[in-house]
Amino acid sequence: MLNLSVLLEDGARNQPEREAVVFGDLRLNYALVDMIANQVANLLVSRGVEPGDKVAIACPNLPYFPFVYFGALKAGAVVVPLNVLLTPREIEYHLRDSGAKALFAFSGTPDLPLGERAWKAFNEVPDCRTYIDLPASAGATESAIEGAETFWAALDGQPGEFETVRTEADDTAVIIYTSGTTGQPKGAQLSHNNLLFNAVCSDALFGRAPDGRDVFLTVLPLFHIFGQTTMMNCALYRHATMVLQARFEGDEALALMEKEGVTIFAGVPTMYWGLLGAKGEHDLARIAGNLNTAVSGGSALPAELARQVRDRFGIGVMEGYGLSETSPVVSFNNPRRKAKPGSIGLPLWGVEMRLVDGDFNPVEGEGPGEIAVRGHCVMKGYHGRPDATELVMRDGWFRTGDIARRDEEGFYFIVDRSKDMIIRGGYNVYPREIEEVLMTHPEVSLAAVVGVPHETHGEEIKAYVIPAEGATATEAEIVAWAKERLAAYKYPRVVDFRTELPMTATGKILKRELR
Ligand code: AMP
Repeated sequence: MLNLSVLLEDGARNQPEREAVVFGDLRLNYALVDMIANQVANLLVSRGVEPGDKVAIACPNLPYFPFVYFGALKAGAVVVPLNVLLTPREIEYHLRDSGAKALFAFSGTPDLPLGERAWKAFNEVPDCRTYIDLPASAGATESAIEGAETFWAALDGQPGEFETVRTEADDTAVIIYTSGTTGQPKGAQLSHNNLLFNAVCSDALFGRAPDGRDVFLTVLPLFHIFGQTTMMNCALYRHATMVLQARFEGDEALALMEKEGVTIFAGVPTMYWGLLGAKGEHDLARIAGNLNTAVSGGSALPAELARQVRDRFGIGVMEGYGLSETSPVVSFNNPRRKAKPGSIGLPLWGVEMRLVDGDFNPVEGEGPGEIAVRGHCVMKGYHGRPDATELVMRDGWFRTGDIARRDEEGFYFIVDRSKDMIIRGGYNVYPREIEEVLMTHPEVSLAAVVGVPHETHGEEIKAYVIPAEGATATEAEIVAWAKERLAAYKYPRVVDFRTELPMTATGKILKRELR
């Protein structure tokens, strides 16, 4: 059976000269990226890594990411991507939990001392035997971390050819630790087939055949499944160019889109706000002219944001829905076929969705119910956690924890995460509905609603608001705005103004922290 690394190898065979990765002044073609991945595979084999062994990588969106990812896959190893913001203790937990044999870590920058943290964690985990430093300066063979070996020194002398290990369809290719808005991180095991199917089926959304002309702005973190599948695996499947941006910043993103002629952008809603809020001078007509597809996912796309993006860039944003456990794409609201505002659309080809109750029994009609998913995208289970797996999987169905309604044409509409639901005086309140209303206020740039304990109502509704620039609205005005538009049991009684809200790397507001 095919190995997921075919995504890169196919490009290297058929369009070797085509640019695969662009980062700053570095422009690397398919042949070169594939050759470096072969060297990584040879390096791993020389260090005793065997098929099925776990190889961890802690690295932002830099060319190292695809080198290591595909190199490890070629060797038949399982890639364990780590969030770059983890503390040493958290990295240690991930290394132990996954049983990683090797760790590749970016040396870091003054504001992201990743190498220091990774090295500290590595030294606590004796079973993880190989540490490779990915230096900040291109080609450096001396490590900033005392005692660590650098990538380029380790590759020196490794052959540029490698015979890819033949893996079975169901073999694990990647373990993704879920984003941490839920309890303790668990590793979702995704197989070669899970990930290949997801890249190939998502491809239908791009509106034209893979013709090797697309340019992706790869800024969604590659350690997260959303970025990994849609912005790397899909890009390589299309023999496209990935323009890497290591950290999202609106003006820089627009400058890259303009300079590189970006045709496909995918981001979380906060990134779209960042593009709209950018202050610099950009040729928006040129950017909009090149842009063929804009995708949003990871959290709900506010209707107001979609409207503003259409006004500014002349493009309808496709909203995707998915999870780490589903490789990630489950459904798409696709304006090229049929889209409905506020919907997460229809299931991806080969994927089934239904609404279920707490016992996995199907909920008929409109719902609401919890979304359950079956098909090629569903993970094998959580690594080393049969109990946790059993809670969420039955007869091939995976329950997502997301509450939705379904209309008569089968379009799904997310109401909220089940655990974010507030119960006020016996009424169920879904924060998302209230957030949408708050965000239509011209002086609100972001809103997050949570339940806080209340003596008589059980829970009371509280809104955290980031005001728009120059805003003067008071708490009473915001409350009145919501009161006018929402049922009496739903509008927030308390508004807390903030300059920022705690968020994950993929733009999910950490409601647990707000509560
Ligand atoms: P993660 O495992 O980090 O990818 O998080 C998955 C969760 O993100 C889902 O269970 C949803 O709660 C949320 N999510 C993803 N896409 C959407 C979307 N389009 N609308 C609303 N929530 C979403």
